[in-house]
Amino acid sequence: MTAAISPQIPTAQTLYDAIIIGSGVGGLVTATQLAAKGAKVLVLESYIIPGGSAGYFEREGYRFDVGASMIFGFGTQGTTNLLTKALEAVNVSLETIPDPVQIHYHLPNNLEVKVHRNYEKFLQELTERFPHERQGIRKFYDECWKVFNCLNQMDLLSLEEPRYLTQVFFQHPLACLGLVKYLPQNAGDIARRYISDPVLLRFIDIECYCWSVVPADLTPMINAGMVFSDRHYGGINYPKGGVGQIAQKLVEGLEKAGGEIYYRAKVANIIVENNRAVGVQLTSGKEYRAKRIISNSTRWDTFEKLLPEIPAAEKKWQQRYQKSPSFLNLHLGVKAEVLPVGTECHHILLEDWEKMGETIFVSIPTLLDPDLAPNGYHIIHTFSPSWVEDWQVSPGEYDRRKEEVAGKIIKRLEQIFPGIDAALDYMEVGTPRTHRRFLNRVDGTYGPIPRRKLKGLLGMPFNRTSVPGLYCVGDSTFPGQGLNAVAFSGFACAHRVAVDLGLTKIIRNS
Ligand SMILES: Cc1cc2nc3c(=O)[nH]c(=O)nc-3n(C[C@H](O)[C@H](O)[C@H](O)COP(=O)(O)OP(=O)(O)OC[C@H]3O[C@@H](n4cnc5c(N)ncnc54)[C@H](O)[C@@H]3O)c2cc1C
Repeated sequence: MTAAISPQIPTAQTLYDAIIIGSGVGGLVTATQLAAKGAKVLVLESYIIPGGSAGYFEREGYRFDVGASMIFGFGTQGTTNLLTKALEAVNVSLETIPDPVQIHYHLPNNLEVKVHRNYEKFLQELTERFPHERQGIRKFYDECWKVFNCLNQMDLLSLEEPRYLTQVFFQHPLACLGLVKYLPQNAGDIARRYISDPVLLRFIDIECYCWSVVPADLTPMINAGMVFSDRHYGGINYPKGGVGQIAQKLVEGLEKAGGEIYYRAKVANIIVENNRAVGVQLTSGKEYRAKRIISNSTRWDTFEKLLPEIPAAEKKWQQRYQKSPSFLNLHLGVKAEVLPVGTECHHILLEDWEKMGETIFVSIPTLLDPDLAPNGYHIIHTFSPSWVEDWQVSPGEYDRRKEEVAGKIIKRLEQIFPGIDAALDYMEVGTPRTHRRFLNRVDGTYGPIPRRKLKGLLGMPFNRTSVPGLYCVGDSTFPGQGLNAVAFSGFACAHRVAVDLGLTKIIRNS
């Protein structure tokens, strides 16, 4: 792993326009956008490289993505290709490799479905499995396109900025009204409007679960509209060199635009004076001051660890949202010949519809970028939901359990890749504790999920917080998890902060 270490520590007297706590993609998009608008920006990252859940690590010739690898937002057209736009805004770019199939599902009772990049091909394949639902399938997914088409014509900026909202409304009145209609809705309600086959409804559930970690009834329609359409519009595109390249490039752009980033700089406290966030203190005791403080840490970490007390608004939010589970991860290096010809990059395995929490996710990025593994080998990153509580055990028991769970997952993988156990060249097991430690996320959580059925996305907070001067960005803000989603949160946060700072150089994201 290449650690980029701070060349110089700035003096504590420097007053920044904005300090960003954390260099996840949400934090870096905020930082680059602000730097591009002329703000003096400092990013403080506790780890040795940027990226957070979109980081990477190297072992024995393999380069593994720590988390994300199915990447939305790298399209070339429209307004929703936010990763492309974020890089462009700071004059950097990244080669990407198109993935012809988003997911190959392996579901109960041998239901096999591939989500092809080509929309009609996907609908045709799904309709072949459920011919009696031909109309319902088309109506549901077409309705997802309506959401996407509304989003994909407007600049995606801060919904907390009244002037922007007014301007967007006058430019795109129908699209805005469309979004207002879908904002309080969940995908499950819309699916049931058109589809009655219970197995097909379960399929819609797993379509949502595989990125929202909740079934369709709890998945906001805005997010479903984005994901279920953009995969056919901008498509899924893998960054050449691995997902870690996204953060590396954003940092390159940040520094070109005059911004600064410091690694091994863990923020211990947000300094609050006269009820206003004015700076941060690192675990080393060093302090930095800024006009605005932006936390890319999760809401739980921000409000329960970095502030002296939890604001009332957060307690209320916590009554509506809870932490999702983390994941048990296997990072495998395998002999190439174990993958049958025509194997797709991403797979979902589920044997029992009642046990969606045991879903197995599989990514094989070397099918798109062979340079991430030694010649003749592939990377397989496979993971399944897992709670940190199940790993609070003695060191000996921890290792034993890791081995046991890894064995079970490999056994399940044998169903689609016979001989995989014998073809293993490398294996590293990461638990929720690993994510808690290296990603700095409380309990290693993937992010917030609704405690009960809520009105779509209406309950997700935007970037401002109840503490003046303090903003949040990333997957515990609107619109939630996923790299393109946190990029959206970053554009919105930077926009709101820029307006609050009176920065006039507005960079449009279209
Ligand atoms: C296993 C897994 C698979 C995934 N697969 C996909 C996928 O295929 N496609 C997709 O789009 N998304 C995927 N995701 C989700 C996606 O990776 C996340 O939603 C997204 O990366 C979160 O970005 P973020 O900016 O909110 O924060 P994070 O990535 O959590 O980054 C926050 C950063 O802040 C730093 N930090 C935290 N606290 C402090 C502190 N006190 N001081 C200094 N630094 C601090 C952390 O070290 C970290 O670098 C996956 C996630 C996981 C875990």
